Amino acid sequence: MAKHIFITGGVVSSLGKGLTAASIALLLKQRGYRIRMQKLDPYLNVDPGTMSPYQHGEVYVTEDGAETDLDLGHYERFTGIYCNQGSNYTTGRIYSAVIAREREGGYLGKTVQVIPHITDEIKAAIRSLATDDVDIVITEIGGTAGDIESLPFLEAIRQFRQEIGRQNGLFIHMTLVPYIQAAGEMKTKPSQQSVGILRTIGIVPDMLICRCERHMEEEHRQKLALFCNVEDQYVIEEKDVDHSIYEVPGELARQHVDQHILKMLQLPENELDLDEWTHMVQTLIAPRREVEIAVIGKYISLQDSYKSIYEALTHAGVANDAAVNFRMIEAGDLTPDNTSKLLDGVAGVLVPGGFGFRGIDGKIRAIQHARQNRIPFFGICLGMQCAVMEFARNVCGLEGANSTEFDAETAHPVIDLMEEQQTITDMGGTMRLGVYPCQLTPDTRTFAAYATETVQERHRHRYEFNNAYREQLEQAGMKISGRFVAGDLVEIVELSDHPWFVACQFHPEFKSTPLQAHPLFRDFVAAAIGGRQESSPAPDATTSQTTSAAQACPAS
Ligand code: GLN
Repeated sequence: MAKHIFITGGVVSSLGKGLTAASIALLLKQRGYRIRMQKLDPYLNVDPGTMSPYQHGEVYVTEDGAETDLDLGHYERFTGIYCNQGSNYTTGRIYSAVIAREREGGYLGKTVQVIPHITDEIKAAIRSLATDDVDIVITEIGGTAGDIESLPFLEAIRQFRQEIGRQNGLFIHMTLVPYIQAAGEMKTKPSQQSVGILRTIGIVPDMLICRCERHMEEEHRQKLALFCNVEDQYVIEEKDVDHSIYEVPGELARQHVDQHILKMLQLPENELDLDEWTHMVQTLIAPRREVEIAVIGKYISLQDSYKSIYEALTHAGVANDAAVNFRMIEAGDLTPDNTSKLLDGVAGVLVPGGFGFRGIDGKIRAIQHARQNRIPFFGICLGMQCAVMEFARNVCGLEGANSTEFDAETAHPVIDLMEEQQTITDMGGTMRLGVYPCQLTPDTRTFAAYATETVQERHRHRYEFNNAYREQLEQAGMKISGRFVAGDLVEIVELSDHPWFVACQFHPEFKSTPLQAHPLFRDFVAAAIGGRQESSPAPDATTSQTTSAAQACPAS
């Protein structure tokens, strides 16, 4: 039978519960345990797929096409273990299932209630991960103790632990121990109160993990232990790390968190093998060189919106023994006059995925600049679509070439809606989602990066490269370096007469880990380190961009 660890949070949000859960998972995995991870989110959206990146950060996509919370990205990056549809449940998803069953007559005339029907559904969601091939399930509860929305989830985990017994289930509570400047002291009271809230609903944490800016004194630890009813040794400090989130597992291991957990769960300790991880962290902390990459996005002010992109670039840095610095540029800020200035000196340009028209002109300008000035370029999803639009307009002379997402009437729809998408009106879970096989073309930069013929990559989009323009673009020098053969879809394009210009329709950033940088990110950063090639700009069919997409498209 699988054992369970439940991680709750108190005092404030953004304590890094996801990172802590992921770090614990890594430590237990490196002691030989088979781990599964899950996040329960107490909001009413059925999944984060329909939420704005401003509200919720990036939407993380799993192999099996679930649109999930970005914490699942941490889970996968730290552990290398894939999440799935069972790894993220929201209140909306739980209620939808219960209401659908009620409509089907599944409750046989009973009054359907939060307790027991919603809590039973939550318990079933937790149990769904505890399959025979799993030793420990780690379940993170989103939100903060005391939130009204969290109550059904907390009641469900209380019942769950009651049913499986103490030695099979653990409660870990993350809290904040702030340093109050004016008093010159660290304060334990908020943590005591948050544990108090849990106690009123019948949960007594077995372990406290305390986020703090300064080291806690023994006196604080004892106070917390006494007032929160937790054993001294199980009050753990998680002080802000100096350099990187990837230092957290080492910090927790130093305080024997993994050993404490195994002891409480009555599982053998086994040996911890953290060598490879520690080595990676050392490279990350003291790299031999630096490189600056421009990321041209639309939600640039919010780092979480491009979480996996920044992480994947960091991993690529580790693979190249380099620190990757980001120049985050709001696409809408790029004008014909300032593009060279804003991109001056960057070693690489990356245009990530996105939706809606705002910022498209700026992205296309950045791509044109990278292409003409032979700066390594990496386009992802919308970034790939923009690269195709740029090439069609400025190299093939297809004036006003566009995606039908932005101009339904364009004379040259080089990016168009897939046929099966044309009749869909529902927003949730209706895109092309999850992994598809992609066959690579030999003798391309893409093939050189992956060094294999077929790869599996994750998608999240509605629009596609329009095959009607394929021949024309190929003749002008755009190489198709990856295809989904069964659907006859172009997945990767590149330019051979450029130091490194690759753009893909899928999201490679979701499959990059610090121990194994994604091959495309790795080679992109390597090309950027190689420096800009000092040769003349690539010639264009048209010298200036005549039609502004803004004139033709509805604003978003
Ligand atoms: N908006 C584009 C599409 O739907 C690109 C999506 C993305 O970048 N994830 O096809």
